[in-house]
Order: sequence, then C-alpha cells, then structure tokens
Amino acid sequence: MAEWLKAPDWKSCIRQNRIEGSNPSLSAPMRRKIRYVVILYGSETKKEKFMTIPLYLNDTYRFTAEASVVFLGEDEKGCFILLDQTPFYPQGGGQPSDQGWIHNPDFSAEVSLVRQYEHDIRHYILPPEGKIEIGTSVTCDVNEKRRLLNARYHTAGHLLGNVLETLYPSLKTIKGHSFPNEAFLELQGEGQVDLALIQQALDEAILSNAKTTLFEMDPFSFEEIYYALPYPVPAHKAFRAMRIGTFLPVPCGGTHVSSLQELGQVTLGKLKYKSEKLKTLSDVIHIRYQLKA
Ligand SMILES: [Zn+2]
Repeated sequence: MAEWLKAPDWKSCIRQNRIEGSNPSLSAPMRRKIRYVVILYGSETKKEKFMTIPLYLNDTYRFTAEASVVFLGEDEKGCFILLDQTPFYPQGGGQPSDQGWIHNPDFSAEVSLVRQYEHDIRHYILPPEGKIEIGTSVTCDVNEKRRLLNARYHTAGHLLGNVLETLYPSLKTIKGHSFPNEAFLELQGEGQVDLALIQQALDEAILSNAKTTLFEMDPFSFEEIYYALPYPVPAHKAFRAMRIGTFLPVPCGGTHVSSLQELGQVTLGKLKYKSEKLKTLSDVIHIRYQLKA
C-alpha cells in the first residue's frame, strides 16, 4: 500500500471499500495539499477487463486529451488511475514512460509513472489534491518536454540500428535502451566496427532529414516483404511497425519524432565488445549514444 494511505485513520475507510479524508501522518503543508481524496480500493472492487485506447500510438505530438475514469486501484507500484483513453505512453520497449498531470476542476494529480498490464494502462499518481471517482471526466496533460526528449532518444536508437545494420550486414540489433543519458544499442554479429565511420553515416542520415512512417501489418506479410523476425509473433495479430526513410522497418509500439532533423546532434559514446561465448559464438557489440537535451 502506498505510504500515504497507511495511516490508522484510513483503515475503516478501506473496509468500506472506499478511502476518503486527509492523511494525518503527513506534514501540515502536505495535509492542506491533500484535502480530500477518494480512491476505490482495488483489491476489494470487482475489476472488469478494461481496454485503454492508446492515443499516443498515432500521434507523438498529442500532449493532451479528455478521458473518463474507468477504475481506481492500487498495486505494488502505488495508486493508479485507469482511463478509457490516454495520451500517456507507458514505459516499455526500452523507452521511459510519460509523466504529466491528470486533472479536472475538483481534482489534480501528478502522474509519475505509466505502465501497461495487458490492455490496462495504469497511471500511477503522487498524492493528489481533491477527489475523483469512477465515471469522472478528466483532462490529461503530458509533460511535452519529456515526451519529445524520449521520442528523440528512441528514434535515434532506431536510426543507429538501421545505420549499423546497413554498414555491417552481419550485425542484428538485439536490444535497445533509449532512456536519456544512459541510452545504448546492442547488436550481435561477427567482427569489429569503426566508430568514426558509423558517426559519419549517422550525421549524413540526420542531414537527409528522412521522415519516419508508421504502418500496421500481419507478421506473415512482414516476413515475406522484409525479413524474418527474430522472435515469435502471433500470426493472426497485426502489429505496428515504424520505418525511417528507405531503411528497413522495425516492429515497435514506441513514440517517434516525425523527421530526423528533430534529433539534433547524436553523438556516439563508448563501444564495448561483450563476450557472450556461453550462449553463442558471436560477439555482442554495445554502443552508447547521447543527444543534446
Ligand atoms: Zn520505436
């Protein structure tokens, strides 16, 4: 249970399947801030299956949306809000989640983390101000600066993979991590790579200002047209792929900038060859990269 819900006075409220009031364990300024809170307690409330419509999938530049609260709950990560639709990107695919605010005239909460569980997109909130209930209409505001920085880092990871696989066709990208200031790409294959040559190809690609495009396709058609996917994908399910210019597309559910010049300068950092000899005879190449904030 979240720290701010642990105070003894709250227990009777939880038994009534409802949490309501102000938290006496908090400092006076914080108590004033959290004047009145209503959270339906997740474990006691019969939870239906929800499917949050992910608005971020089709538009990286959509930072705000109106939504309806469909569930309020709590898990080991804290209190969360489920909405019928959301512009908030949930952490995944090596990309950090959006942050921002969910609010209406009676309620305001900062969204600190967003995660997806099956079709639920859970907006984890910091101690809120005001009250909220299922059925309430809210406005979602994504932190634009963070969204765009994350989308730039993530798109740069795709581009770096495309550039490397084009320069060294034996290499295959196996892992991408695009958190700002700790971003890296891992590729598997044989041989050494030339960092200066990769940097030059990367700079040229960014100057070309190629556009990114998104499309949906079933895995069978994708493999027929492009390449065999390195992991099993349910055949009946269409998936989303993104493509930079004329590079090969990559299946991905992340957020991307629309054209490469939005990336600015992408600087390659340390390069390491990791021995994976216990698993395979090939090397894993680990390359770090950095963008300007
Ligand atoms: Zn992506």
